[in-house]
Amino acid sequence: MENERKIYLDYSATTPVKEAVLAEMIPYFTERFGNPSSLYTVGQDSKNAISVARERVAALIGAQPGEIYFTSSGTEADNWAVIETAHAKAAKGRHIITSAIEHHALLHSCEHLEKEGFEVTYLGVDAEGFISLAELEAAIRPDTTLISIMFANNEVGTIQPVAEIAQIAKAHGVLFHTDAVQALGNVEIDVKALGVDMLSMSGHKIYGPKGIGALYIRRGVNLPTHMYGGGQESGKRAGTENLTGIVGFGKAAQLSKENLAAHIAKLTELRNYFVEQVQARIQDVQVNGNLERRLPGNANITFKYIEGEALLLLLDMKGIAVSTGSACSSASLTPSHVLSALGVPWEIIHGSIRFTVGDFTTKEDLDYTLDALTEAVAKLRSISSVSKDSGW
Ligand SMILES: *Cc1c(COP(=O)(O)O)cnc(C)c1O
Repeated sequence: MENERKIYLDYSATTPVKEAVLAEMIPYFTERFGNPSSLYTVGQDSKNAISVARERVAALIGAQPGEIYFTSSGTEADNWAVIETAHAKAAKGRHIITSAIEHHALLHSCEHLEKEGFEVTYLGVDAEGFISLAELEAAIRPDTTLISIMFANNEVGTIQPVAEIAQIAKAHGVLFHTDAVQALGNVEIDVKALGVDMLSMSGHKIYGPKGIGALYIRRGVNLPTHMYGGGQESGKRAGTENLTGIVGFGKAAQLSKENLAAHIAKLTELRNYFVEQVQARIQDVQVNGNLERRLPGNANITFKYIEGEALLLLLDMKGIAVSTGSACSSASLTPSHVLSALGVPWEIIHGSIRFTVGDFTTKEDLDYTLDALTEAVAKLRSISSVSKDSGW
């Protein structure tokens, strides 16, 4: 029998659309359906709605509206920033710097560039998930054109020293892009104070719809056109706009800005409670990543001597949704590239689960999860052939 209780603890994979976001979107499917490029009234209504959304997204990161370019996703924003910068600057050099713990949207863009003959340095991270600023500076060469380091990591939640990275990039005349898909709505972001040149965002990680993202491109950075066609997005990213998606992303950004401090406080408290309880109730657990400079809702925990996948399935039977590795790679058996980069041993990685709490999580949800988790871990350990005694 399917469990009646549904507990979602995978807010880093995606979030539900908030009611207020959906309400704002709905009219733009039907009576306000006009093409924003059309000159008559229903078209101009759509154009205005996009302007409002652009202002709201810009306000969330301290940018000017004219510096926000809507894309189909965070993935597209990452591809655009990295690949087009590399191509545009190829005459200066063909070397870019990133980290080993980036999202695949970034890593696979870099691998594509390597096939084209570009050179990529993948900076390692320490046991807590931080890059070294000294290593970053030492990796910069005369032919380096771009540094792309993620703002906050999707698996272990580590928040990188973005302002310091931007300073180093600027001092060496290198452009700096950051994938802020996870940081958005979870960390205070001010692109001007931080000094970043380009920043990727996504709607569905902040209680907006899926299939809409944006790239912040600082005025003065002349990133080449990414999609040719009509003149949409200042001629840089053509194609009739995803009107409903943009409206929803804008509303989600507005709500996120209004509630940011309360959201961070709530998630931090829930997450800390959960981690403390897991440590108190279950033996042989390891919390991965840094606990301070970390996304408020993220807990990445290893349960030694068991398979994360088996634990995930037992929790799913109780109606609890969590993830192993990142959502996109969990169908494969390759160990998480992020935990590997943190130096977590292979067998430990396989017992790791990412729990991410969000706006709709309650303490009761966590108590129910803690009971189910304690029971499931005990069950799996009792049938596990691999145990402490077998010399792991
Ligand atoms: C989810 C995510 C992306 C991809 O965003 P989509 O809008 O789902 O394509 C990129 N980077 C990070 C860090 C993410 O968490």
